[in-house]
Amino acid sequence: MITKKGRFLIRHKEIDSKYIESFDFDKLEDKYQDIKKFYSFEKDLGLIRICFIYSPEEFLFFTGREFNQNWICAMVGYHNTINIFSPSIIEKITTHKKESIFNTIVHEISHLFYGYSMLADFPLFNEGIAKYHENNKCNNKINFNLPSLKGGKDSIYDYGVGHLIVCSIMEHFGNEGAKKIIKFLKESSTEMSEEELFNLFKKIFEIDVDLLIELKGGKEK
Ligand SMILES: [Zn+2]
Repeated sequence: MITKKGRFLIRHKEIDSKYIESFDFDKLEDKYQDIKKFYSFEKDLGLIRICFIYSPEEFLFFTGREFNQNWICAMVGYHNTINIFSPSIIEKITTHKKESIFNTIVHEISHLFYGYSMLADFPLFNEGIAKYHENNKCNNKINFNLPSLKGGKDSIYDYGVGHLIVCSIMEHFGNEGAKKIIKFLKESSTEMSEEELFNLFKKIFEIDVDLLIELKGGKEK
């Protein structure tokens, strides 16, 4: 069945109707607006389709990917679709709790905007910004020099360090931070070397990324 709540269309089974009735779609709309503002996005995305998934087979059908890593519980698809394991099954087949569904949808909305914003395809920032919208405080610490601003080799690095960088920037620059991040990602490209990217970062943010993280307490002592 299909339920419509504002800009959100949810595909689900009867068993999850109660969950959907108690879900805070007003809060989700507020998050949507925050994310839209972060990306300086002018237009609305139109309807956002939340597709509840009920089995690994459905996951394969809707995402085109085999479900073989139980820490994955959601994935964006074409035309504003967020595929996510349903509340009635998420705890049985993934490592995620039912309570995490709200934050996961917020995370995926960030990925939708990233995709539409024509930004450099850097997993570190794509995941870091998504994590920031889930939680704008970051307790991660790092004890090494950053090898990459692109990311994409190690998902733990992308989520952890990406989150730390985005939170440090937002804490340091306030709302200007989002504008600077988007500017950085618009002027970057995957063809650039890491060295060129670190230099571009310094030019736009007027600070070394390492020093910024140290200033914000993200360096392990
Ligand atoms: Zn993600």
